[in-house]
Amino acid sequence: MEFSQGFISAAYIVAALLFIFSLSGLSKQESAQTGNWYGIVGMVIALIATIADERVSNVFIILVMMSIGAFIGLRLAKKVEMTQMPELVAILHSFVGLAAVLVGMNSYFEVDHNTASNLVQLGGDLLPQMQMAMNIHLTEVFLGVFIGAVTFTGSIVAFGKLRGVISSSALMLPHRHKMNLAAGVVSFILMVMFVHNGGGNFPLFLMTVIALVFGWHMVASIGGADMPVVVSMLNSYSGWAAAAAGFMLSNDLLIVTGALVGSSGAILSYIMCKAMNRSFISVIAGGFGTNVVINNDVDYGEHVEVQAEAVADLLKGAKNVIITPGYGMAVAQAQYPVYEMTQQLLAKGINVRFGIHPVAGRLPGHMNVLLAEAKVPYDIVLGMDEINDDFADTDVVLVIGANDTVNPAAEEDPTSPIAGMPVLEVWHAKNVVVFKRSMNTGYAGVQNPLFFKDNTQMLFGDAKDSVEQIFRAL
Ligand code: NDP
Repeated sequence: MEFSQGFISAAYIVAALLFIFSLSGLSKQESAQTGNWYGIVGMVIALIATIADERVSNVFIILVMMSIGAFIGLRLAKKVEMTQMPELVAILHSFVGLAAVLVGMNSYFEVDHNTASNLVQLGGDLLPQMQMAMNIHLTEVFLGVFIGAVTFTGSIVAFGKLRGVISSSALMLPHRHKMNLAAGVVSFILMVMFVHNGGGNFPLFLMTVIALVFGWHMVASIGGADMPVVVSMLNSYSGWAAAAAGFMLSNDLLIVTGALVGSSGAILSYIMCKAMNRSFISVIAGGFGTNVVINNDVDYGEHVEVQAEAVADLLKGAKNVIITPGYGMAVAQAQYPVYEMTQQLLAKGINVRFGIHPVAGRLPGHMNVLLAEAKVPYDIVLGMDEINDDFADTDVVLVIGANDTVNPAAEEDPTSPIAGMPVLEVWHAKNVVVFKRSMNTGYAGVQNPLFFKDNTQMLFGDAKDSVEQIFRAL
């Protein structure tokens, strides 16, 4: 069945609108599921309209390839843990990058540039409009291949670092910034040559090699600690690579979708950097969490240990309780017992709420997704800005597997690597209980003076076990 171009354009507009509704739905927990459905329906419409295009010569091959892709995708998505999500996203971005390179190369070799370049070399004139169209096409090809190649190798390195198969420490080659700059400048010169000469395999292939090495080197020189921000940045690049592919294929929907992904990825990177009090440039320049020198000379005092039964007693006597979860809750998969314990406390008439730091865990919204998965009601889950003033009136704060996001050093110690990062001010509460397995540092590798405060007690052990013990004692 083949659809007319008008029908396909209409389908693309509907799909693009559904993608926009999807993004807007996904920005709130209450509407996230509906947002997901908008996205799914939009994608189904987009796929049907694309396959039914009269220019598609072999629908059968496309359907076979899609089925194989869908099979692998479904299996992976079912198996993946929330904590592995950034690495899955990273490897998916590498596919988008590779696709953009292949589309770019194909689009270049498909068009006969010989006539154009021969004419240019012989000093002949192309019609101005033809010349302009050719220049635009060549620029699209060049930029698309460049962004795609950077995204491809950059995403593979990000995946390797998150997976632990590549060392997460930053690769500090001498003159690395100069090398990156040189790669950019040489690629730009090659682009001018490429467009001016009406094409040419040499500048295209040389740039592809440079871009592949550049992508690899850029991400390799960023410390593992900054990888989630890098993944979000690569998400943005993959969007622009898709948009470039859309221009080359004259596919409006791919342009719109690419621009949506590109801009939302850029906004997400900005939000993450802001919540970590880091500048985007300093993330790209690399090194956070890798050069941190922990000052062992500082005497923080002694920490006080507590047992689960005593925490249960503390909770029984409380009126207001706030739970601040972090990465450790995700590792321990403690969200389910946390939900059960919350229900129990609510049933006793205790006011229990959750305080969520914007970068708690390893990806924005990580904690919200875990709590939603465990069916914690949305209305008791509050953001940092909404809850920060309430700690002073709180009897007990349960810090479950969070560390950096509740570190007072961010506010009190200007020399701390996380100085200036907004944090949950849990130490203002009457009692703070910290759930973790040891006195080890968190993600940023810095000590947390909260653990040594008079009103803080440490409950050591796996967070899931600890919460279950409290549940039983309650
Ligand atoms: P942290 O990563 O600072 O600390 C997690 C704590 O959990 C550790 O101290 C660890 O201590 C404890 N833990 C680990 N496993 C368990 C377990 N099974 N049971 C109990 N405790 C456990 O967590 P936060 O969520 O507070 O901070 C997130 C950090 O990640 C911030 O520095 C943030 O900037 C960074 N980040 C976040 C991003 C995001 O988008 N969310 C993106 C990039 C970075 P122990 O080993 O002793 O158990």
